[in-house]
Amino acid sequence: MNSKSQDLYQQSIKYMPGGVNSPVRAFKAVGRNPVFIDHAKGDRIFDVDGNEYIDYVLSWGPNILGSAEEHVVEAVKKAVEKGLTYGAPTENELILAEIVQKLVPSMEMIRLVNSGTEATMSAIRAARGFTKKNKLIKFRGCYHGHSDGLLVQAGSGALTQNVPDSAGVPASCVKDTLVADYNDISSVEKLFEEFPDDIAAIIVEPVAANMGVVLPEKGFLQALRDITEKHDSLLIFDEVITGFRIAAGGAEEVFGVHPDLKTFGKIVGGGMPLAVYGGRRDIMECIAPDGPVYQAGTLSGNPIATTAGIETLKIIDEKKDEIYPVLEKRTKKLADHYRKCFDGIANVNQIGSLMSVFFTKRKVTNYEDAMSSDTKLFAKYFNFMLSHGIYVAPSQFEAMFLSVCHSDKDIQKTCDVVSEFFESMRK
Ligand SMILES: *Cc1c(COP(=O)(O)O)cnc(C)c1O
Repeated sequence: MNSKSQDLYQQSIKYMPGGVNSPVRAFKAVGRNPVFIDHAKGDRIFDVDGNEYIDYVLSWGPNILGSAEEHVVEAVKKAVEKGLTYGAPTENELILAEIVQKLVPSMEMIRLVNSGTEATMSAIRAARGFTKKNKLIKFRGCYHGHSDGLLVQAGSGALTQNVPDSAGVPASCVKDTLVADYNDISSVEKLFEEFPDDIAAIIVEPVAANMGVVLPEKGFLQALRDITEKHDSLLIFDEVITGFRIAAGGAEEVFGVHPDLKTFGKIVGGGMPLAVYGGRRDIMECIAPDGPVYQAGTLSGNPIATTAGIETLKIIDEKKDEIYPVLEKRTKKLADHYRKCFDGIANVNQIGSLMSVFFTKRKVTNYEDAMSSDTKLFAKYFNFMLSHGIYVAPSQFEAMFLSVCHSDKDIQKTCDVVSEFFESMRK
């Protein structure tokens, strides 16, 4: 098959591992080579061969207003004219901090960084500096970026004997990372029984969205809040995906559970490299130069990135009463259609404009359930969708995202293709 995507791919693999700059983009999990993108607008993405797709990836979440939203693009163009980076404070950083706090009032103090990875890494450092404890609990199947201490899944059953997920991560880097099971508070209690005074924090995706979308069961997040309070540990919500996605105020608004620290990424940068960590003032005052926890960044609070973030959050703030109910309604319609088509074959999890279809008969509440999915069938589904103009994430374990640009008509078209795929499966 000759195509410009294929050409570019063959060239790129000479220069970059897998031809890509982030592994999931390589399409390995769906047994094919990637399509190269030329541009995107609204809910459409166009590859270099001129194919048009309805986009359910949205750059893995940021483009909740659709790609290249005109106000955001206009503001960025203006900002670019003024200067690309100064490495000195700007009013933009203050404006972004104010609007983040307006939408998420518990962000009493914040720090801007460049990626979700940096945000979680730094929040954990702050938690350790504040509590003067070292150990950290994370959940199997939750992703918090690629820093050494967080690349841990642990073998089944070996709750405390962790092995790194990646080559190049020394065992010594993960010796303080403990792994528990999502939605299983008893696995957390066991770790606190074993290390009652050593756990600095629990970090959790309040809705897990990196093993496919897995919702917290009733009481789970509150139980994490209770146990951390009891042991003078901190609770960190990694809202890099859920922030400004499941509600304008994120998971805190939806579930009414209040963590000590939060991390935001993806949407908060409006499509530019920008992320945030923050929360309780007394903890954030531990960050340099106010306190002893060092964290820095040459491009942090970059004027172009903050412009895109400000413009995006402004629109969200102005239109939130309209945006979130509509997103929810349309995503639910799509989810219900999948449920109807794949009854007995797949399970669908959905919240707000986040959803996943798992090709398993099991209800998916944790990592093990997610892993029971038929990834070969997923690959077939993915390839069918792509060849019919629907771009979903090239992995069973990634979320589907909707934007405000996904119209009822686009949803209907997607439903029709899903039905066609189901028919083709039965032949
Ligand atoms: C994407 C993601 C990260 C990492 O963010 P990057 O910007 O890719 O470094 C961290 N946590 C969660 C929950 C994410 O979805």
